[in-house]
Amino acid sequence: MQSLIDTTKRRILIIDDNSRIHEDYRKILAASSSTSDEMEADFMAFLGETPKPGTTSEQLESPLRDLIQLDSAMQGQEGLEMVKQAIAESSPYSLAFVDLRMPPGWDGLRTIEELWKIAPDLQVVICSAYSDNAYNDICDRLGQTDSLLILKKPFDAVEVYQLAVALTEKWLLSRKARLKQADLEELVELRTVELKKASLHDPMTKLANRTKFNDRLKESLKRTRRYQLKTGLYLIDIDYFKQINDSLGHPAGDELLVEVGRRLVECMRDTDTAARLGGDEFAIVQTDVKDISEFRAVLKRLEEILSRPYTLDDRYVDVSFSIGAAVAPNDATNADLLLRKADLALYRSKKDGRSTSRFYESEMDYDLANFQEITHNLKAGLAKNQFDLYYQPIVAADTGALQSMEALLRWTHPTIGTIPPDEFIPTAEETGIIAQIGEWVLATACQTAVSWPKDVKVAVNVSPIQFRSRYELIPCVARVLAETGLEPERLEIEITETSLLGNSDQTIEKLNQLQEIGVSIVLDDFGMGHSSLNYVQSFPFDKLKLDRSFVSSKFATEKTRAILKLVGGLGVNLDIVTTAEGVETAEELAIVQAEGFRQIQGYLIGRPTPGPELGQFFEKDRLLPVQS
Ligand code: C2E
Ligand code: CA
Ligand code: CA
Repeated sequence: MQSLIDTTKRRILIIDDNSRIHEDYRKILAASSSTSDEMEADFMAFLGETPKPGTTSEQLESPLRDLIQLDSAMQGQEGLEMVKQAIAESSPYSLAFVDLRMPPGWDGLRTIEELWKIAPDLQVVICSAYSDNAYNDICDRLGQTDSLLILKKPFDAVEVYQLAVALTEKWLLSRKARLKQADLEELVELRTVELKKASLHDPMTKLANRTKFNDRLKESLKRTRRYQLKTGLYLIDIDYFKQINDSLGHPAGDELLVEVGRRLVECMRDTDTAARLGGDEFAIVQTDVKDISEFRAVLKRLEEILSRPYTLDDRYVDVSFSIGAAVAPNDATNADLLLRKADLALYRSKKDGRSTSRFYESEMDYDLANFQEITHNLKAGLAKNQFDLYYQPIVAADTGALQSMEALLRWTHPTIGTIPPDEFIPTAEETGIIAQIGEWVLATACQTAVSWPKDVKVAVNVSPIQFRSRYELIPCVARVLAETGLEPERLEIEITETSLLGNSDQTIEKLNQLQEIGVSIVLDDFGMGHSSLNYVQSFPFDKLKLDRSFVSSKFATEKTRAILKLVGGLGVNLDIVTTAEGVETAEELAIVQAEGFRQIQGYLIGRPTPGPELGQFFEKDRLLPVQS
């Protein structure tokens, strides 16, 4: 049978003024001892006058004896010192056999009292020859306890042995239970700290979360007031994070967030706080700033460190950031207002084309008012039919035949007058109202085009925002086509590279679906982005529309001319329709024709024109002014 006994070493201390008794214990309990005849006789004396059968030391051989380590003290004081020493060495005694009378020193009870002061869990066997009222005395002095047993002389070797085994085992078990308890308590404490940390930290980036950020900001502002210092607040947004997430996948998106977190920490001092406020929004609180130049320095550092290349999912990814910053006490002294000001600066950075940083300036307050007003007005404008579509002809470069009309949005405000799309579309995109406006544009353009000659298509500009999943572009297009009865082949959708930024799989999927319906896809403002040629590869566009800045002779340089040539060539070689927009002069027309562009659009052919006046274009067979 397998032993259930703990195999840890057990230290037992014998405290007795009689050296012979020590030897007797040793015979019963200790591993091997040389037994002389004389000692054998002493041992018998210890056990009682006559040896009982089955009680010799040889018969008590047990594996447990190897585990027992016996020590001797002749006096209570000496025993106490040894117990102290053992505790100090982290190898405490589990059991003490203590004699009741040990002249000239402490008696057994005093000894036990002292021992328990330093080793409360020490098991004790008290040995006495005088049995009368010993038990009552003992209880009176030491109290009721389960750590004490009385052994009456003469001893029985088996009894001694069993006491030793049982009590040392009990000591070990309760000690183990206590250690486990301590382990558990430590674990609870550790988990509590972790939980506390988790409620203040963003688990992904390990940066402070919004709660901790708010605390830190308020704390810093307090110090700012008390010690006449300054606080810097920086809001940092990843540009086009959604597209990165969509195209590279969420694990790569997460990787980016973690890396950005790491870099923010790199930009700041230990006393500053970097936080992730949610999604792709980060912030830094810069505390105890003495000199205004420290703000510029941090912003410069942020720009420098954040703009270093990123490798996500083993791919090099171009990531840019918009940053808005505000300073206390200059811009605001309370946290809410300071946040609002930093937010305004951030909004301005985004409006200025992203990938920029701005400190708050008082004129931005006007921005906000303006923004809110425009938002309000846009909604009202839509409800009050203040929007209108103009149409601009697009003709074949060789024959001059009208092929398409581009719908261009016009907003006539009752008091401000006509507001060009460049001025309100970014705001409409920012607020998401572009989705409603876009739907109106699509429906109106298709509705209008139904009455045109069948060979004239209608081109509709679609904002990147409309490709976001919640706006359900595809069902919207399908519904409009069904309701107006316009053949899908007559609808062209113009998108800019922005829609494709990060090569969004979702956008590509939607473009595919549109093409499947029969709608053509035009890449507008071609050449304006950073990687136009990449995009040509990523999707089979039906048409490329070169941005008008390359066409205009006003901006002509060798470089623009080279691009003009390249795109014209692309059209010829890839058999893709190419449109030159913004053609204003006969000279420009001649150039784009020579470079092989297939379609022409521009003031030279026709200006954006209200729907009811389009007859002038439909009447003519060719809209090119002069035969080249
Ligand atoms: P776009 O799509 O590149 O539109 C062409 C712009 O160039 C139009 O400006 C047009 O009036 C102008 N343009 C045409 N020919 C010439 C020319 O020969 N010379 C010059 N200098 N300009 C010419 P517009 O109508 O002000 O529109 C500006 C931008 O607003 C558009 O650029 C387009 O991105 C956006 N937009 C217009 N309508 C809509 C719409 O319904 N939805 C969306 N999402 N965006 C629209
Ligand atoms: Ca366009
Ligand atoms: Ca364009």
